[in-house]
Amino acid sequence: MRKVYMDNAATTSLAPEVLEQMMPYLTATYGNPSSVHAFGREAKTGLDKARQQVAAALNAELDEIIFTGCGTESDNTVLLGVAEKYKAKGNHIITTNIEHHAILHTAEYLEKHGCEVTYLPVDEFGRVSPEQVAAAIKENTILVSIMFANNEVGTIMPIAEIGAVCKEKGVLFHTDAVQAVGHVPIDVKAMNIDMLSLSAHKFHGPKGVGALYVRRGIRLPSFIMGGGQEKGRRAGTENTAGIVGLGAAAELSCVHMAENAERMTALRNRLMEGIEREIPYVKLNGHRTQRLPNNVNYSIRYIEGESILLMLDMNGIAASSGSACTSGSLDPSHVLLALGLDHETAHGSVRLTLGDETTEEDIDYVIAVLKKTAERLREMSPLYKG
Ligand SMILES: *Cc1c(COP(=O)(O)O)cnc(C)c1O
Repeated sequence: MRKVYMDNAATTSLAPEVLEQMMPYLTATYGNPSSVHAFGREAKTGLDKARQQVAAALNAELDEIIFTGCGTESDNTVLLGVAEKYKAKGNHIITTNIEHHAILHTAEYLEKHGCEVTYLPVDEFGRVSPEQVAAAIKENTILVSIMFANNEVGTIMPIAEIGAVCKEKGVLFHTDAVQAVGHVPIDVKAMNIDMLSLSAHKFHGPKGVGALYVRRGIRLPSFIMGGGQEKGRRAGTENTAGIVGLGAAAELSCVHMAENAERMTALRNRLMEGIEREIPYVKLNGHRTQRLPNNVNYSIRYIEGESILLMLDMNGIAASSGSACTSGSLDPSHVLLALGLDHETAHGSVRLTLGDETTEEDIDYVIAVLKKTAERLREMSPLYKG
């Protein structure tokens, strides 16, 4: 049976070129980068190169990159760190209601500990406007945190415009760019981004390693306390091989970004056209054009996302759904509800996210299987018959 992996928003494969660059750091180059001897210095060289690669990918400076354990850690570091550090200035944080749980659950934690959080509502496509951000900023606002691109529906936010608003108002601006890095161009200087979170495993790097960009002049408390690694900004012996892989993946995805995006957008459009042509009563979730080149998300009316996933899986296709029965809850995704979908439509959603390996044949196979799946499930659906 054909196997098609279309869950690249959850995680991606490790690029062979990336693994190749990691291998020495998993084997012979095992020194501790903090050690002064040759073994340590050699390991340190790997970290230095990765820092250059990540800084170049964002147009940042070397000393603005901190390596972390994952995207979640980067997000936690910013929210908890800014709340702690700037508590004399204020306690108000602005974010959106479609952030990843790494932001939302941290914001909820902070609300229990004396912070005030504004969750900006998004429009039907999943966007907040710079005007909404400007209107929400108050005297006591210490941070605006808005994701670069949404992980479920792929909507890209007007980040440069929001950055300009924050700069003008003198408020720190953080973006969770975990879905965007390696996929769309990012320039932290031109976009006035003060802090940015990224994670290697979302762009064909290894799992369990991320980075945080923090603009020069901003000093956050270390989230992990201990030794003086990362200039005292993140303790713990570095995941050398992982960091080397992060750097390699960042460079690889940036070098090939334009061609990859073009190829991916063509494949994505083929998939969207196929679904809309072959399956009646579908609704595109997210923005039609302001969306990640690799994200497709539809509600297939009158049927259940979970059932669609099972049928796709039986046909070798890995996808994901906004109906979250898998996490033990019957509530549909907070993102789809925030876009204004009713529970039934949200439950019928399926997310297909493409990766470097995706081919045209994969796309056509998925369209055919999805068409059959929708027909089968609808035959059994009392909702559809009605
Ligand atoms: C995957 C993801 C995260 C979490 O990153 P991890 O490295 O898996 O912890 C955070 N935000 C967004 C938008 C994501 O897609």
